[in-house]
Amino acid sequence: PPARHLFSDPAEMAALRRSLLAWYDECKRDLPWRALAATEPDADRRAYAVWVSEIMLQQTQVATVINYYNRWMQKWPTLQALAQASLEEVNELWAGLGYYSRGKRLQEAARKVMSDLAGRMPRTAEDLQKLLPGVGRYTAGAIASISYGQATGVVDGNVIRVLCRLRCIGADSSSPAVIERLWDMANALVDRSRPGDFNQALMELGATVCVPKAPLCGECPVKQHCQARRRKLFGKPTPVPDVEDCGVGDCPLCPPAAEPWDSSLGVTNFPRKAAKKQPRAARTATCVLERRGCHGAPEYLIVQRPSSGLLAGLWEFPSLPLAQGLQEEKQREVLADHLQAWTGQPVVAGGLRFIGEVVHIFSHIHQTYVVYSLSLDGDVTLDPALSPSRWVTEEEFRASAVSTAMKKVL
Ligand code: SF4
Repeated sequence: PPARHLFSDPAEMAALRRSLLAWYDECKRDLPWRALAATEPDADRRAYAVWVSEIMLQQTQVATVINYYNRWMQKWPTLQALAQASLEEVNELWAGLGYYSRGKRLQEAARKVMSDLAGRMPRTAEDLQKLLPGVGRYTAGAIASISYGQATGVVDGNVIRVLCRLRCIGADSSSPAVIERLWDMANALVDRSRPGDFNQALMELGATVCVPKAPLCGECPVKQHCQARRRKLFGKPTPVPDVEDCGVGDCPLCPPAAEPWDSSLGVTNFPRKAAKKQPRAARTATCVLERRGCHGAPEYLIVQRPSSGLLAGLWEFPSLPLAQGLQEEKQREVLADHLQAWTGQPVVAGGLRFIGEVVHIFSHIHQTYVVYSLSLDGDVTLDPALSPSRWVTEEEFRASAVSTAMKKVL
């Protein structure tokens, strides 16, 4: 690619590293996993602490993760402790954090380290990615650089944004060709003596200064190296020797010719992404079955979802996916038949009380729960041949491994 999209001048790269690290030392946020990684002398324990935080932070905001992270590390302070936990316990602690397979995979990987690797964590990004389920290229790079000091770069959403702006990369940043370029760039840029801090600094810059909508360019420690800012201020990037190779429509890293630089957007011209696919719409009938418990308090029936697929192993009110365009009367009938199988009692469709609808957006599904309720009297025998099920009080329900969507339903 043309030189404007690369880092090729060693002096500039060294200056950028210095500025970024100095800023990080002064301005970084206090986060529990950073405190742990900084004070823990044992590298494998450090790696575990970083690993847990990185998995939790995938797709989830820092502010939400902190509480979950602290509870997790209190309950399972080491990999050994996590390997001995049950999946039910993991799901319970993870409840509300979303993307539930992350917790499950983390625990599977911990077990694998204990059983197949004699309790020793792999120590390079390549081995971490190869040997641990659920550890992708980014997480492997983060663990290896922060915990073991390997001079390897990382590329996540924040790094993509910062690098695309620093080097005016406007081609689709989710395309494999651009991602590969960014990895090359991150690996070339990473500071050899402080790789973990450098990677965290680059991500921190993206999270706090070079933010998506209104970046704080005036406060940015690397602004003098930023091509997007130059372009905004002076109308063009820094002249570089082969700049004429670029911007003629066939550059693989420039914005597409059909959507050129938009001066009203400034630096937020970068990065660019191809349009996202719309989430698929789905409807599910769900019924809150209620009975009086032994002390007169209401109890609710929850059933466990299959161990694979969406919300694997989590608990929910008995639910049934609905075919598109099913009339309300028909909905009640299919739901009543379904409930009859759970409770072993005849359930009359007309007895189901319609409560309302709950919408929950999963990453790829726009899910509407059509919520009914039904009170049951007397003894109810649950069919043990069906999936696991149990009666819970409201308090027990909230402490169970249930999704945020089901809490909304209740
Ligand atoms: Fe991001 Fe602005 Fe800094 Fe460039 S100068 S890296 S656009 S915050």
